[in-house]
Amino acid sequence: MSLETEYDPDNIFAKIIRGDMPCVKVLETDKILAFMDVFPQSEGHCLVIHKQSQAVNFLDVEPEALSELTAATQEVARAVHYGLNPDGIRIMQFSGARAGQTVFHLHIHVLPVYEGVVVAAHASGKPADAESLEPIAAKIRAALA
Ligand code: 5GP
Repeated sequence: MSLETEYDPDNIFAKIIRGDMPCVKVLETDKILAFMDVFPQSEGHCLVIHKQSQAVNFLDVEPEALSELTAATQEVARAVHYGLNPDGIRIMQFSGARAGQTVFHLHIHVLPVYEGVVVAAHASGKPADAESLEPIAAKIRAALA
């Protein structure tokens, strides 16, 4: 799959935006949605997406949407910091399947890192259930307020 992938309106994140698929939400506005990654690489791993842009990756996003997305990502990262107190936070974005992208609706990962805890492999393993993600999301939401 090349970097010039066409946007598929039925990709999993488009379904989440439409409410056709569930997710554990952290932040939602008319333009932005942040939610827990269902294959968390660490406790508090979340994803930030733009609800209106149909950008597949970092290369094709409109500057205004990118600006809104990055501002929201900083907001979420700060809430992860205050809510979960990790030792570091990785902000990641993969563009193109060869780079590791598996969902083709632009998204930014907020990945907390804890000293002495190994970060799990990307997009692998067993999905977490909503019950286990919800209390973590609640701490992040509380830190946003
Ligand atoms: P990418 O590999 O494209 O950078 O990241 C896609 C991310 O979406 C992965 O970290 C993966 O765990 C996550 N993911 C895949 N499917 C779902 C889903 O149905 N719900 C949620 N919340 N996350 C998903």
